[in-house]
Amino acid sequence: MSDDGTLIIGGGIAGAATAWHLARRGAEGVVLLERERDFGAHATAQNAAILRTFTEGDATGALAHETATFLMDPPDGFSEVPLLDPKGLILQLGASGDEELARWRATKPDPDAVRPLDAAELQERFPWYSGPTEGAWLVEDEGEIDVAALLEGYLRGAREAGCELRAGAEVARFIKTTNGIEGVVLSDGEELRASKVIVCAGGWAGDLAREAGSTLSFEPRRRHLMVTSADEAVDAAWPIFWSQPEAFYTRPESGGMLLCACDEEVVAPDECTVDHEVGERIAEKAARLVEGVMNAGCAHLWAGMRTFTSDDDFLIGPDPDVDGLYWAAALGGHGVSCSAGVGRLAAEHILGEDPSDDTARALDPRRSQVTQLS
Ligand SMILES: Cc1cc2nc3c(=O)[nH]c(=O)nc-3n(C[C@H](O)[C@H](O)[C@H](O)COP(=O)(O)OP(=O)(O)OC[C@H]3O[C@@H](n4cnc5c(N)ncnc54)[C@H](O)[C@@H]3O)c2cc1C
Repeated sequence: MSDDGTLIIGGGIAGAATAWHLARRGAEGVVLLERERDFGAHATAQNAAILRTFTEGDATGALAHETATFLMDPPDGFSEVPLLDPKGLILQLGASGDEELARWRATKPDPDAVRPLDAAELQERFPWYSGPTEGAWLVEDEGEIDVAALLEGYLRGAREAGCELRAGAEVARFIKTTNGIEGVVLSDGEELRASKVIVCAGGWAGDLAREAGSTLSFEPRRRHLMVTSADEAVDAAWPIFWSQPEAFYTRPESGGMLLCACDEEVVAPDECTVDHEVGERIAEKAARLVEGVMNAGCAHLWAGMRTFTSDDDFLIGPDPDVDGLYWAAALGGHGVSCSAGVGRLAAEHILGEDPSDDTARALDPRRSQVTQLS
């Protein structure tokens, strides 16, 4: 590869989207390095696949809207299957949620797709729901993402536009000079030189930050998902239901229901294993809020990492201190539904376009909030 190329570390949704945007923009010498044999084997394969543009911040909201537009109308040839099933998202917010919702709704390309839902319609759309019904909203144009098709689209498009995709390539350390980072060394000793290296390593971003000498900090938080056994009473067309006050969400999956109690325990990236007590807590909460859901029993329980930095916003752009080092990381619980925007913004930084709108500034790793706290 050429010394002035770009190495992308991590072949999850963030690395794949960054590769796609870079390659489509004509960047040369782009290599995507993934240590597993398969791309997208970690958080990208373990998430709930929900498109929810109602996020915690304006900047992530903007990237989510950008990605929603991409999912609804992807570029020609990107995917042979629809990337989004807009089955609807019922959002239940607490007493203080209305103001936040009004603010977000005003930023949505189609604000009319969001409307209040009364108890009768909530029951009609999701007949199993047995919890409180106040404060529910229907987001008609959001729903379930086909994450495998999205990842495949980014990877195929990147490869076709000239990006080299390398699985089974683990970055062990960086090549550091007085000029900053100038490449990486793989665990088999192979050296790869490049003028820019971008870390898209999900839960392992912190390990690579320490190795690079970056002051950025990362916190992987474990979250469990459960899927119940198939039950013929489940209607695959039911919407996604998400309650903020109950910290709970659910949607149909594989003939059963996917359930989440929004647990978040800080873990070391190599120790993100299943805790069956959390599974019991999910079952208890689900039994209270969704009548009969646990009758079929648990078919599958797993855990994955949502990774955050000190102010809980994404990190996209150059490292504050280390030249040649870039980040598309700390994507928390929105990395899939923001992926097209994340990849676009990361590519603009790598290409030296110095994006400086409000979104870029809010997520820039050089922002004072993360450089002072880390
Ligand atoms: C339970 C759960 C539910 C979620 N639900 C949603 C949801 O509904 N909607 C949504 O938008 N988001 C959701 N998320 C968040 C979303 O999954 C993540 O934000 C997103 O997948 C992060 O992608 P990533 O590419 O940064 O990380 P990953 O997918 O983890 O990819 C990082 C990759 O880097 C590789 N890597 C690490 N270190 C090295 C190294 N040294 N050398 C080479 N490769 C390396 C890893 O092997 C890995 O494949 C959820 C997450 C979890 C855990």
